[in-house]
Amino acid sequence: MKTIKNFINGQWVPPSTGEYEESVSPAHVVEVVARYPMSGKADVDRAVEAARSAFPMWRDTPAPRRGEILFKAAEILRRRKEELGRLVTREMGKILPEGLGDVQEAIDMAYFMAGEGRRLQGETVPCELPNKDGKSIRVPWGVFALITPWNFPIAIPSWKIFASLICGNTVVFKPSSDSPLCAVRLVEILEEAGLPAGVLNLVTGSGESVGEALALHQDVQGISFTGSCAVGEALAVSAAKLHRPIAMEMGGKNAIMVMDDANLDLALEGVLWGAFGTTGQRCTASSRIIVHEKVHDLFVERLVKAANALRLGDGLDKGVDVGPLINRRALSKVLNYIRIGKDEGAHLHCGGAQAQAGALAEGYFVEPTVFSAVTPNMRIAQEEIFGPVVSVIKCDSYEEGVSIVNQSRFGLSAAIYTQNINYAARAERDLDTGLVYVNASTIGAEIQLPFGGFRHSGSGHPEAGGLMGALDFFSHIKVVYRDFSGKLQKAQIDVS
Ligand code: NAP
Repeated sequence: MKTIKNFINGQWVPPSTGEYEESVSPAHVVEVVARYPMSGKADVDRAVEAARSAFPMWRDTPAPRRGEILFKAAEILRRRKEELGRLVTREMGKILPEGLGDVQEAIDMAYFMAGEGRRLQGETVPCELPNKDGKSIRVPWGVFALITPWNFPIAIPSWKIFASLICGNTVVFKPSSDSPLCAVRLVEILEEAGLPAGVLNLVTGSGESVGEALALHQDVQGISFTGSCAVGEALAVSAAKLHRPIAMEMGGKNAIMVMDDANLDLALEGVLWGAFGTTGQRCTASSRIIVHEKVHDLFVERLVKAANALRLGDGLDKGVDVGPLINRRALSKVLNYIRIGKDEGAHLHCGGAQAQAGALAEGYFVEPTVFSAVTPNMRIAQEEIFGPVVSVIKCDSYEEGVSIVNQSRFGLSAAIYTQNINYAARAERDLDTGLVYVNASTIGAEIQLPFGGFRHSGSGHPEAGGLMGALDFFSHIKVVYRDFSGKLQKAQIDVS
């Protein structure tokens, strides 16, 4: 078992509090993966000071040179992919192919952002006066507070860290308390890749103390947060008072429409993968399935059969489809929503309980659960459950289906299965979510395009992508005018 330290100013240091907590494997809760620091405000202060001091040097390091360090990090990540993927599975619980996919996203992001170091373009435009030119350039903000969840313990931190670093910011990173060892490994890789001291700092500890102290620290210039709506919205209020930019990626209640002309085999695969992949613990998980009445009964029958056939277990074991939930709190929350669904009158077809047979009793496993006869306003159709629970809602037309999808305070991801090109094209326009998939599940975003949700799912500053995505948030625009006429030239004045 590893005892973790914080990483401040290029050194691995114990917390000022001397306090530690344990990160356990959710598939076998007696297995302690790491002891991590329950840091305090003093640790946050030291980390922010290190990032503040390193900022001028990092800002003035040419972006292509910054990119070379990210390129090296990509190569190290690639070399250590198997080991890191296994750690993701052990510490967070997703099955190994998904653990490896988590690391692959970081690899892709590192290469992509390394290349962006040679771009980071602004614009040059003609000026209206002679002997004068004008351009816009991108400049970093300063110290960024990056606060991340546990469900993509390598990928999400890498999205934020690589994008902020390539733009020239320095970073203090506060990972989830459910995946601190993954965070340490990622930081070690950037250290090995040659990142100078102070540019990236890691402080672990609780969200209420470390996370809040960091986000509100006077020397932090920007915040990027991924997690629950409750925490994101509270941080946004504080950030507004501090005039500090904040990007938030939050919850979802993502929907798949299955039209009567859909290829049902394909739709079934997409629903199974979207609803039960990562044990339903993706912000983009498919939790509402809106099925045309003409194929509803057949589809539900096939879905239930397929859900019943999924194999639960330790994600490191071959042949396992669905891993555990992250912790006891998540287990209680999911079981509570199953009770709510039954009380609301939805029809429970399968699952509905904690799975405790044999070795499953050692972890936080819930049987894949399918409800039908769900109506759009039920709580199980409106609130984020974040577990292996799917609600099937019947619709009688394309129009009704779209209206059900959009009847949500969330707006992250939606999908339609149809073979009708007109429905597909209309859905691109009509589905009111940040991500729309046609004949694919609600999950599976690629890093070279922006990723973000509408309404309560996000702040409108997407992650990933290039200049239309994360880079626009992690840099700000400065406009420079240069007059080489040698005399006073007056712009914005009527000389006629
Ligand atoms: P969470 O409880 O909000 O925690 C997220 C992060 O915020 C953790 O590092 C947490 O630290 C920290 N935190 C908690 N309270 C804080 C506070 N008062 N001030 C500052 N930081 C604080 O969310 P989660 O349970 O880890 O993640 C699940 C949620 O994330 C779901 O709603 C999911 O939809 C969302 N999510 C969204 C996306 C997206 O891109 N839209 C992606 C993944 C997940 P501790 O761990 O120490 O509590």
